Amino acid sequence: MTNPLLAPWTAPFGLPPFAEIRDADFGPAFDAGLAEARAAIAGIAEQAEAPTYANTIAALELAEGILDRVSGVFYNLAGADSTEAREALMRELAPKMSAFASEITNNKRLFARIEALWAARDGLGLEAEQMRVLTLYRRMFVRSGAELEGEAAERLTAVKARLAVLGTQFGQNLLADEREWFMVLAEEDLEGLPGFVVDAARAAGRERGQNGPVVTLSRSLIVPFLQFSPRRELRRVAYEAWVARGANGGATDNRGVAAEILALREERAKLLGYGSFAAFKLEPEMAKTPDAVRDLLMRVWEPAKRKALADAGVLEGMLRADGIAGPLEPWDWRYYSEKRRMAEHDLDEAALKPYLGLEAMLGAMFGCASRLFGLEFREIAGPFYHPDVRGWEVTRGGKHVAVFLGDYFARSSKRSGAWCSAMRSQRKLGGEQRPIVVNVCNFAKGEPALLSWDDARTLFHEFGHALHQMLSDVTHGFISGTSVARDFVELPSQLYEHWLEVPAVLEEYARHWETGEPMPAEMRERLLAAGTYDQGFATVEFVASALVDLAFHEGAAPSDPMVMQAEVLERIGMPQAIRMRHATPHFAHVFSGDGYSSGYYSYMWSEVMDADAFAAFEEAGDPFDPATAALLEKHILSAGGSEEAEVLYTRFRGRMPGVEALLKGRGLLDAA
Ligand SMILES: [Zn+2]
Repeated sequence: MTNPLLAPWTAPFGLPPFAEIRDADFGPAFDAGLAEARAAIAGIAEQAEAPTYANTIAALELAEGILDRVSGVFYNLAGADSTEAREALMRELAPKMSAFASEITNNKRLFARIEALWAARDGLGLEAEQMRVLTLYRRMFVRSGAELEGEAAERLTAVKARLAVLGTQFGQNLLADEREWFMVLAEEDLEGLPGFVVDAARAAGRERGQNGPVVTLSRSLIVPFLQFSPRRELRRVAYEAWVARGANGGATDNRGVAAEILALREERAKLLGYGSFAAFKLEPEMAKTPDAVRDLLMRVWEPAKRKALADAGVLEGMLRADGIAGPLEPWDWRYYSEKRRMAEHDLDEAALKPYLGLEAMLGAMFGCASRLFGLEFREIAGPFYHPDVRGWEVTRGGKHVAVFLGDYFARSSKRSGAWCSAMRSQRKLGGEQRPIVVNVCNFAKGEPALLSWDDARTLFHEFGHALHQMLSDVTHGFISGTSVARDFVELPSQLYEHWLEVPAVLEEYARHWETGEPMPAEMRERLLAAGTYDQGFATVEFVASALVDLAFHEGAAPSDPMVMQAEVLERIGMPQAIRMRHATPHFAHVFSGDGYSSGYYSYMWSEVMDADAFAAFEEAGDPFDPATAALLEKHILSAGGSEEAEVLYTRFRGRMPGVEALLKGRGLLDAA
């Protein structure tokens, strides 16, 4: 039987043959992809021809055809719709793929060709993008240890392979803890919960084979439960289970995994000649150094903490008024904060949600992209990889731009959080290839699906990443779309969230799912006025996580990360009633792969820019100002990693931003 992953993909737009793929096809397809790539790379390294850009760099760009195709499908499926077979294959692939990557960067003959091109670069007549790609390839080889010899080279390969295994294990442990825990609610425990929470709890109960409603550790269920349930004891139990993910002892405990990861990362950095893993990791980022990161975080920390402590005082007063002695605990914060929000802003999330139906918000999300960039969206029929997934063809002026897939509902086979991935990236080399881009979220499924304000932001956020992929217009896949510095990659996504807050957008799209009535103007005004509400809390939980991440990677690796986490929180004076947004045992950004290791600050770094970038539209007097949108597309959304992020940003805005727009946007400026 032919393997559908390896046969030509003849579905419209070259979509993967989702309906035909069986889990058993992935392993052999990866083997075929690895074999093809190895042969191609050996051909490049061993050829008799003197190195040229075309026979070395361009050839490398095209060496992994099957592998690109198969991994694009598999890694999204493994995260969005995991099965035991897929998890087993993930574990099997982690060391294989890591070994393959090491093999390339340890290939001395290949590196010698790149070094020869690098030495001769000014005389090669390279275009700007080619020069950039050559620079990045060389940097990738050097940072991967291409200059190491003998024992050091072998050790580095072993360290990286072990890290790949541990990163996978960390993520799988977390998924197991999230999947296993749920709390059955009796009918009387539904007291105080709005209809959408009750519906979501019942849907979750059915999915878990229970007769009644349950609370799970899915953010879209547990957060509203903590916001609305007046039953303090239930809130405590749920909260403690939530923050214990990855720290429950037994086979899925992540604390030892985290310690080993940190020790190996330190060793990796030292082998490469860096003082610390943070120094190594930050070198290619915009921030460049740990000091620059800490400087930003601490400038935000103090005003945020002052605001959070003042808020804690108010909430504790409300707790006492309920006849509870206190102190205010972490499982109380969201509950009293929601009450206060209703009292002060009269903003009732339950009354808001009917105006934030998923369909309405998709309309807003697509509508803004149409106005800004002239994109059009036409829903297309599947099958896709799960019945809940929907697809759209994206066009501009009648020309195909991309395929966009939306996979929006929580299910137990999906890892938590939300993300954007490209099943196929844009590139022109070797024939124009248009992207297939997926947004995956964890919204509660309901009839109809109604979003919280936070959910709607997430929807826009992930679509900002999708635009970065779909509007990409570069030659090389290596720098396509979101292949940019980590602390730049959140700029398009966080920037796109701003359009959700444009009053005219809400006026047009935020309509009651049942009656079609627009959101009442005063509700909209209250909603927007409440935009900075509880930002002391949000900023504190974020910055604390970012500072712990930085501390983990800046000096000697801690033998017990939990002790170091406690020390950092003590040192910065973490408010008692707030915990880190992600504590170490479930800090997947940092430990499930090393994407955001010593990089969690990136969101805030990007926020400095997104606040300033949106101000460009405000200064133009129109949130859809065509000239500003054109500059944004030209210099940022279509440019991928074709230049240093700082250069791209400066071309768009004429200068680099300061921290003020961020503090203002979060309502922390008065507290400063
Ligand atoms: Zn993001």
